[in-house]
Amino acid sequence: MTDETLDDPRYEEYREAGDILSTVMNEARERVEVGAKQLDVAEYAEERIRELGGEPAFPVNISVDEEASHATSGADDETEFGEEMVCLDIGVHVDGWIADAAVTVDLSDNPELVAAAEEALDAAVETIAPGVHTGEVGAAIEDAIRDRGYTPILNLSGHGVAQFDAHTDPSVPNRGLDRGVELEVGDVIAVEPFATDGQGKVGEGNDAEIYELAGSGGRSVRNRQARQLLETIEEEYGQLPFALRWLDDQRAKMLLRRLQRQGVVESHPVLKEDAGTLVSQAEHTLIVTEDGCEVPTTGIFS
Ligand code: MN
Ligand code: MN
Repeated sequence: MTDETLDDPRYEEYREAGDILSTVMNEARERVEVGAKQLDVAEYAEERIRELGGEPAFPVNISVDEEASHATSGADDETEFGEEMVCLDIGVHVDGWIADAAVTVDLSDNPELVAAAEEALDAAVETIAPGVHTGEVGAAIEDAIRDRGYTPILNLSGHGVAQFDAHTDPSVPNRGLDRGVELEVGDVIAVEPFATDGQGKVGEGNDAEIYELAGSGGRSVRNRQARQLLETIEEEYGQLPFALRWLDDQRAKMLLRRLQRQGVVESHPVLKEDAGTLVSQAEHTLIVTEDGCEVPTTGIFS
């Protein structure tokens, strides 16, 4: 590939998504404080994304303490922030082109753990260039986190993004690997180190508030109500993840369970550090360029 790749109009849309995300992230993080409601922050951010001309690429994730990913508020959820470590992970798309980024808002007074994830992200950004493979990016992440005396979450990874596809190849590990996928000019990847002082491994919790269509669809669903819900999901969200609370249907949870049993929909249970220890996260979406990378979400730390 040549640098001409980067003239493709999609990159302007990635940049626009990144700008919207940066604005929304900075406004949302200001609202994360002890006593504020998690649901209010999630709904504020999702509404602001639309006001600014984007669409949520997935429900705003608010992960607290040992939670690492896939947590979002339920409808009528009254949960308030306490003195916790809060990871705010937001996705925006413009015409399907996705920016995905995360910051940790620390209400728990563990600044070193937050710094570990942020430094790992900086190290990854420094490392990324055409010809570098994803295992080398993982090594930069792992070294930065271990240098601080913490452990990366080894079974969570960064990922590629594509149009209306929030998680695609290549996987970007949070650990050093001898081999990986060689990055090329024009690749767009989300890099997301997580740091903990626990095992460095997450497992699935019992709760799921986030779902998405499984496979490429086309399956017949006999139950009329379930079929109607499926049609709504296909129209509104396509292949992108959505929140249970976004569905304006009292029976949505029961109908989703039915669709899940038929293999039409899958759930994303909350992922938690096995040892129950605090987890911090930092994430950027970046475009691989001729001499390194460009970071459309760079404004999230300003
Ligand atoms: Mn993310
Ligand atoms: Mn991501």
